[in-house]
Amino acid sequence: FPEVAFVGRSNVGKSTIINSLTNRKKLAKVSNTPGRTRLVNFFMIDNICSLVDLPGYGYAKISKSEKQAWGKIIEEYLMNRPDLRKVVLLVDARHKPTEDDVLMIEYLRHYSIEVLVVATKLDKLKRNDIKKSENIIRETLGLSEEKILFYSALTKENLQKVIDEIFSGILPETV
Ligand code: GDP
Repeated sequence: FPEVAFVGRSNVGKSTIINSLTNRKKLAKVSNTPGRTRLVNFFMIDNICSLVDLPGYGYAKISKSEKQAWGKIIEEYLMNRPDLRKVVLLVDARHKPTEDDVLMIEYLRHYSIEVLVVATKLDKLKRNDIKKSENIIRETLGLSEEKILFYSALTKENLQKVIDEIFSGILPETV
């Protein structure tokens, strides 16, 4: 099945957005790799696509070995996925993307994995600051023409746009 994976620093709203996407559909959690806080969870949607919840990064207090373990999980996942169609990189709409976000997008580019950037927590951003925020995200992540979608899980603003973009080319038109 085609897969769409989600990455981002911890607390960016990754579980929340995956829930908003899966709650609308039949959901079966099909497998999960055991671990303490960092798991790779798979969510199957209508037997046609799976959403993959990769462990969040950027914990302030983790040890070097934990960080390496995290890197290994992500790398092993990304390197062995013939069905991976795209990765959704989540960033907080209010903040400049972190160094880890930059490393992540460079890594994905290096392996020619399609990336969709979604800026979360739009409800916490003043309307007047959206353009500025978009420019900062664009510049920090080195995006040119690529889309950045601003999304709020609280108000559901742009939920349909996020769904359309994530599933474009993957699911039939009926989503
Ligand atoms: P994760 O660690 O990336 O999986 O983050 P979570 O999905 O657990 O979200 C972290 C916190 O941010 C939770 O308290 C969520 O309720 C909150 N959150 C997630 N998305 C939004 C959003 O769009 N707006 C607001 N205001 N809060 C959000």
